[in-house]
Amino acid sequence: MEDVAELVEGYHRFLDTRYAEQSDLYRTLAEEGQAPKTAIIACCDSRVDPATIFAAGPGQLFIVRNVANLVPPFEPLGNHHGTSAALEFAVEGLEVENIVVMGHARCGGVRAFLDDLYVQESTNSFIGRWMSLLKAAHAETVRTHGRDDVTSIEEQQQAMEHAAVRSSLENLETFPFIRDRLAAGKLKLRGAYFDIADGRLLTLDQTTGAFRPLA
Ligand SMILES: [Zn+2]
Repeated sequence: MEDVAELVEGYHRFLDTRYAEQSDLYRTLAEEGQAPKTAIIACCDSRVDPATIFAAGPGQLFIVRNVANLVPPFEPLGNHHGTSAALEFAVEGLEVENIVVMGHARCGGVRAFLDDLYVQESTNSFIGRWMSLLKAAHAETVRTHGRDDVTSIEEQQQAMEHAAVRSSLENLETFPFIRDRLAAGKLKLRGAYFDIADGRLLTLDQTTGAFRPLA
């Protein structure tokens, strides 16, 4: 089947099922606007859709997706910051109460960083520059898991996927509007990690930095 035909068929299925069941909710959300309580930073990866994983309905989650679920540091003089703009809107406009950074297993973005570690500095691609946000996560991985040549690429990748979530949470705290709401007790930051193959969701214990299966 052509991709577009698949989309059209899916849309009709949505109209007949989810939309039909929730048409009142859709209308109310259209008239009154959205008021999601949670923002999620997730990867663009087609296997890790937060709305599917959390069985979320319309209006429930404010989702920001980018390559490798990364949050850049607060850089007011930078150029076009899509993720930072979405965060500003989620926090200042919608006043969400939670921001969840959700990493995932077998992240192509993290793997690309590991595979290209020594060449990406010289590339001029959007991805190369975006993935340089993983440098802190990589440094942490080398510190905790030893050097690249003594750890398997799979172990490094998973350690880096975890470290990238921690590093994005640290970067969230560099945004003044997030720091203010954290200090006022109006916002909580959380880390999570989706395992894809077995559907397991891990959550980050922010005291120890470790990921544990959700009870
Ligand atoms: Zn990914």
